Amino acid sequence: MSTLNQLTAGELARAIRRKEASARQATEACLNRIRQIDGQVKAFLSYDEADALAQADAADRAVAAGEAAHRPLLGVPIAIKDVLAVRNQPLGCASKILEGYISPFDATVITRLREAGAIVFGRLNMDEFAMGSSTENSAYFTTRNPWDLERIPGGSSGGSAAAVAADECSASIGSDTGGSIRQPAALCGCVGLKPTYGRVSRYGLVAFASSLDQIGSFTKDVSDSALLLKAISGVDPKDSTSVPESVPDYAKALEGSIKGMRIGLPKEYMIDGMHPEVSAAVKAAVDQLQKLGADIVEISLPHTDYAAACYYIIAPAEASANLARFDGVRYGKRVDGADPIEMYSRTRGAGFGPEVKRRIILGTYVLSSGYYDAFYLRAQKVRTLIRQDFLNAFEKVDAIVTPTTPTAAFKAGEKSNDPLQMYLSDIFTISCNLAGICGISVPCGFLKEPKLPLGLQILGKPFGEAALLKLAHAYEQSSPWRGQKPPL
Ligand code: GLN
Repeated sequence: MSTLNQLTAGELARAIRRKEASARQATEACLNRIRQIDGQVKAFLSYDEADALAQADAADRAVAAGEAAHRPLLGVPIAIKDVLAVRNQPLGCASKILEGYISPFDATVITRLREAGAIVFGRLNMDEFAMGSSTENSAYFTTRNPWDLERIPGGSSGGSAAAVAADECSASIGSDTGGSIRQPAALCGCVGLKPTYGRVSRYGLVAFASSLDQIGSFTKDVSDSALLLKAISGVDPKDSTSVPESVPDYAKALEGSIKGMRIGLPKEYMIDGMHPEVSAAVKAAVDQLQKLGADIVEISLPHTDYAAACYYIIAPAEASANLARFDGVRYGKRVDGADPIEMYSRTRGAGFGPEVKRRIILGTYVLSSGYYDAFYLRAQKVRTLIRQDFLNAFEKVDAIVTPTTPTAAFKAGEKSNDPLQMYLSDIFTISCNLAGICGISVPCGFLKEPKLPLGLQILGKPFGEAALLKLAHAYEQSSPWRGQKPPL
């Protein structure tokens, strides 16, 4: 029998609802697991055990009071990326500049998880300010891939992916600006969902690139993604970019056959440099979807080649503006100077790591007078073309299938001195953010030697999460990959 920390969020919530397990037992199982293996995996920057157990006891009282029926995550421990505000907990974005900063409020996603009954705990490691693809840019330490501790878990939400894969929590929350949920989910063998831009409120998410950022989940299976998405979605008066689109019952949407659903295969995603076993795994997954009744259609997304260049102009431009607020006056760290200008520059010089500085410099450059038209404005126009490619494709198909990443998890240190190589590890995930659509990564097999997980990415129409989840669920249920655990 699985221990409580290994259960999916759905299974655990059911066990707690039926009083076969308590929230305290579930939380203790996660905390024990963390004590046992997090010294090796290093998914958590910190966690507040007393607070987690107090929430668990409150959840058990709520179960006794009969609240479980309408609180679908009652008693389920969910861990949080260090980029989301949780009241009275550290909020550091894995950066020295926010060292010691404690959030005075809950992000909307956290409020919603609490309303659904979840136990919200822990600060999960990440690349500093979510800039990176491996967690090597964390100012503290690199998280390790539970499938092979010499390898990175992906990033920037590497802690969120590793913690779920290693059963240190039932599910976790991350953010995705260019692939930071889907890429680490693929590399750690869990399910990662990036919702449509505007589906989930960003209030309380420290902004990296505001027009690209979106909050989403890491889960042990697709039905948990549906469960969490339902809990965190919906319009929020505190985020004017959240959209007043009704929130479907995503769990219901998983039911039924995918017969007749049309799936697009973009020819531009079969690139050189892709590992042959990755293309083979994706091809096998596509064959499987076809066996389940889906129609496979070749499509074209002609502006795909420009996505990386476009992203690495727009994201740094927005980041350079967003990160201007970390000035030593309002948050976290301050290094004094003779006058305010010197204080700002010393604080930012000491507080930001090299990748963050690189992005700020890139971003201010592409926005500066004389270069704005050539870089930023042009990238915005290309972005519109990329979005239009997807909208054209979605006239013909219900979803688009691609690999999530070109390779499996790489070794720590392998790409850390080559920013361009690092940037290319998101080559398949960034278009989705530029277009503002939704995407999921679901396990689709393993590299044989060494055994490392691979991910299938499914992209959906704006607010088309229900179709996405249905396809991912049908595939998952028919594949042998579900529920495989790393050898830890
Ligand atoms: N790896 C990409 C970057 O470094 C995406 C990061 C993310 O999605 N937050 O910008």
